[in-house]
Amino acid sequence: MDGGWRLTGEKIYIHNAPVAHFALVLAVTDKSKRKRGGMSMFLVDIDDTPGAARAYHEHKMGQRASQVGGFVFEDAFVPGSALLGEEGTGFGAVLQVLEKGRLGIGALANGISRAALDTATEHARNRRQFGQRIADFQAIAFTLADMATDYEAARQLLEHGARLLDEGRDANAACSMAKLFASEASIRNTSRAVQVLGGSGYIRGVEAERLYRDARITTIYEGTSEVQRIIISRAVIG
Ligand SMILES: Cc1cc2nc3c(=O)[nH]c(=O)nc-3n(C[C@H](O)[C@H](O)[C@H](O)COP(=O)(O)OP(=O)(O)OC[C@H]3O[C@@H](n4cnc5c(N)ncnc54)[C@H](O)[C@@H]3O)c2cc1C
Repeated sequence: MDGGWRLTGEKIYIHNAPVAHFALVLAVTDKSKRKRGGMSMFLVDIDDTPGAARAYHEHKMGQRASQVGGFVFEDAFVPGSALLGEEGTGFGAVLQVLEKGRLGIGALANGISRAALDTATEHARNRRQFGQRIADFQAIAFTLADMATDYEAARQLLEHGARLLDEGRDANAACSMAKLFASEASIRNTSRAVQVLGGSGYIRGVEAERLYRDARITTIYEGTSEVQRIIISRAVIG
């Protein structure tokens, strides 16, 4: 429209929305084209735009140090200067950062996996039952071996995806594989850590319990595991 646009809509579940002053908003600017050239990106000043507002503050299962909430836009006027890039190029701009985002969340998940391995290993070395360290029970030692293997496999998939991105090569399926594997491995590893800690792994305030809750979202945000499998299967099938 002349001089700017009017935004109407709502987006839920946005990291840092409760504390953000600015929002990157992807909006439909041409309904006849939608994602094929009909979506544009805006930088919106939430505090200085009448009709734009922070919606609420969620209470999450895990990762409770970061804040998540939503934005609501009701006929919110944004001037032409709020448009980022050319009109109609917003969807393409988002696609460009998706692969990096998947690697970032995969790396986050693998950090949780590593922490789970470390806390389980430390506990297994120190906890004694039936006259010996629980690390000396083969069942526990093999659990630690599986955890280390999951962690290392995810790390190598993540490095492979990052290398392809750095070299400017097609990294689409590789980044999805890395995110899929690392996030699901972090759920496996945090569950194993709780098991190695026994009853103490289930107690609030113990690291393994927090890691178990923190890992759970990693197969959901930045593209669910199901979405990653769609991307990978398309690359396989063609
Ligand atoms: C804590 C948290 C933080 C978040 N942070 C952000 C953020 O910063 N920015 C942001 O934009 N979003 C963010 N999100 C949103 C997040 O990316 C979405 O919740 C996620 O992509 C899943 O979308 P949905 O919740 O609408 O689930 P739905 O799309 O309703 O999916 C429900 C289930 O159906 C499956 N499903 C859906 N479609 C298909 C399909 N085509 N084929 C097969 N299975 C399918 C899904 O995989 C899932 O298992 C966040 C969410 C949470 C909980």
